[in-house]
Amino acid sequence: MAENTFMVEIVTPERILYKDEIQFLVAPGVEGELGVMKNHAPLVAALKIGVLRYKDAAGKPQQIALSGGFMEVVDNVGRILAETAEHGRDIDVLRAKAARERAERRLAQQSEEVNYTRARMALQRAIARIKASEPSI
Ligand code: ATP
Repeated sequence: MAENTFMVEIVTPERILYKDEIQFLVAPGVEGELGVMKNHAPLVAALKIGVLRYKDAAGKPQQIALSGGFMEVVDNVGRILAETAEHGRDIDVLRAKAARERAERRLAQQSEEVNYTRARMALQRAIARIKASEPSI
């Protein structure tokens, strides 16, 4: 293991999205952003819909769209269990933009047919995917 890296695993009900050494991550905690580096104290936290940013072992910035879940950090292993997760480079941006527009249209309607909570969550997922697909700063 390189001196400044720790292991991270990102798992969804469908697949293991990622398992590798990284230098640093910032996760979208429900109570704010959570930064983790090597030798972080043990942690369990709930995550909201958003973008997970990390620096891989080579120091390259990367982004993953997450739709909520949990993160545990213990003994230099970070485990993230998310409902869905996609690498920024794999995101279908047109699909995410279509999902955003659909959700915005639903939210603009005054109708008993619309499930506003569901539409708000869909909008947040779409925004997170669009952000994760954009170059990281
Ligand atoms: P849509 O309305 O476009 O299906 P959604 O937010 O309802 O979006 P989810 O239910 O969160 O989609 O995800 C279903 C599956 O599709 C998951 O495996 C997720 O990783 C994948 N997925 C969703 N949107 C995208 C996207 N824009 N690019 C790549 N994969 C996606």
